[in-house]
Amino acid sequence: MKVLLVFAHPEPRSLNGRLRDVAIAELEAQGHEVRLSDLYADNWKSEVDQADFPALEAEARLMPVQASKKAFEAGTLTDDVKAEIEKLLWADVLILQFPLWWFTMPAILKGWVDRVFAYGFAYGVGEHSERRWGDRYGEGSLAGKRAMLIVTAGGWEEHYTPRGINGPIDDLLFPIHHGILYYPGYDVLPPFVAYRADGLKEAGFEPLAERLRDRMRTLQSTSPIPYRRQNAGDYLIPTMQLRAGLETLGETGFSLHRRGRRLSLPDPDSRYSLVSPSASRNA
Ligand code: FAD
Repeated sequence: MKVLLVFAHPEPRSLNGRLRDVAIAELEAQGHEVRLSDLYADNWKSEVDQADFPALEAEARLMPVQASKKAFEAGTLTDDVKAEIEKLLWADVLILQFPLWWFTMPAILKGWVDRVFAYGFAYGVGEHSERRWGDRYGEGSLAGKRAMLIVTAGGWEEHYTPRGINGPIDDLLFPIHHGILYYPGYDVLPPFVAYRADGLKEAGFEPLAERLRDRMRTLQSTSPIPYRRQNAGDYLIPTMQLRAGLETLGETGFSLHRRGRRLSLPDPDSRYSLVSPSASRNA
């Protein structure tokens, strides 16, 4: 497989840097081809602004959505953005790796998404009508590919459980998993999360590295998070609300958008298992 790893940490000698090297070494040992986008090392420009649209007249008002659409269609996006789009089209698997900063990705990585996920490429794809609301959420330019996060967090795993004060990690990562990766079509694998990262001691590194190697070895066989597909009948168009009765009794929140019910969470790597895949109309 071809794997693109997008890395967002300013320090190559960091824990993240070490884990990145572990992941790449394991992927290559498995015979996969790996490309790296190292955002800090590449001095990635993170903000969307006028300079992103060189074909726009100097005095023209910048309307980011329209400018992105026009530039993508005309092939006038900047070279750095075009190169990242080419890598995304090349890769079978996309891995985003970052430390959790203020409950989400570092700004440089968000800026990579903002600039690279252009209109016509990652959004604004497909027919928008009374019958269909575009090719997104499981369909789109990147459908058929897989994506996964590698995240380090200072907090404890318990802090990120359903009763934990930080909120469940599934909910915190939902905007990335569902809103950024599933939206343009990726099948999203459960994340690799390293908790209590700041307190890691030498003895803790190898077990962590081995857990990551295992995830790299199973990239092809790991079941994706079973998000509902937009155009498979579960949602009303055009309100895009989940049809009544598809949820489990009393269920609210982000988990509505996953097929089946979650098991209780004894093991982080099994938290996406389904109780009953057949409970869903499109399982
Ligand atoms: P590093 O600082 O590089 O290393 C962490 C520890 O691992 C150090 O003790 C280091 O000695 C050790 N280590 C590194 N490499 C090795 C090795 N090879 N072998 C053994 N030990 C090693 N956390 C949250 O949970 N939620 C948040 O919302 C959040 N927000 C943050 C916001 C900001 C702006 C910042 C700076 C931090 C935030 N954190 C938060 C904490 C953050 O997630 C962690 O600091 C980060 O994940 C640690 O990863 P790192 O690569 O930077 O680790």
